Amino acid sequence: MLFFFTYGIEKTPIDMADFMVKCPSCETDQWAEIMLYSVYSHVYYIPLFPHEKDAMVVCKKCGLRRYAVPFNAKLISNYAEVKQLYRHKWFTYIGAAIIALPFVLWIILAALGY
Ligand SMILES: [Zn+2]
Repeated sequence: MLFFFTYGIEKTPIDMADFMVKCPSCETDQWAEIMLYSVYSHVYYIPLFPHEKDAMVVCKKCGLRRYAVPFNAKLISNYAEVKQLYRHKWFTYIGAAIIALPFVLWIILAALGY
């Protein structure tokens, strides 16, 4: 029997913004254009769950482009303030919601006494 199991990692853009980041080329803090991505696993192209955010960083001074830079406190100094502004896209949780649904129904039915 042939069985195709398609899964992998996908990315979807979240937002674009300007941040002050340390540029490895300029070796100083510079304004950079950042394109943020939500990285998620998928099975048969259905998103399972998001696991991290990464960024494409373009230095505004020297033009250095960096791809798949982890979006964390190492990249952005005020990360703690801004991380709330950039959330994973809702659809990247679809798989987790589908998996959780029977359990949620079971808990509700159990609570109702069925
Ligand atoms: Zn630079």
